[in-house]
Amino acid sequence: MKKEITTDITCSFIKANGERCQARKLAGEEFCYFHSPQVVVERAEARRRGGLRRHGDKGETGSYIIKSSQNVLGILEDCINDAYALENTGGRAKAIGYLCQIILKGFEVTEIENRLLALEEKVYGKH
Ligand SMILES: [Zn+2]
Repeated sequence: MKKEITTDITCSFIKANGERCQARKLAGEEFCYFHSPQVVVERAEARRRGGLRRHGDKGETGSYIIKSSQNVLGILEDCINDAYALENTGGRAKAIGYLCQIILKGFEVTEIENRLLALEEKVYGKH
């Protein structure tokens, strides 16, 4: 089957209001980080292992298993949520801003991965 290089990088998820999600989809998937069924399961599992801790508690060793950029995005998301729950200080704002910058960079990398995968599939076929 002939594979076309996709220029449609938008998530296929349709929201409750009928609008399509405008986030970029993950490499090799139809959905973005927030709507990928696989990532949703991974995030839930990571939370079950370590994300349910209370403030001041140490994280549990091995709570996160990092095998892909998606895993890292999940950790960053948890860090932002943890920071957001803290008292509103300049330090908190800086930390959240810094983490958001890293996440945006991660989305850029995901887009490049998407395009590279599509090119490889076009050249070498599905692997
Ligand atoms: Zn989405």
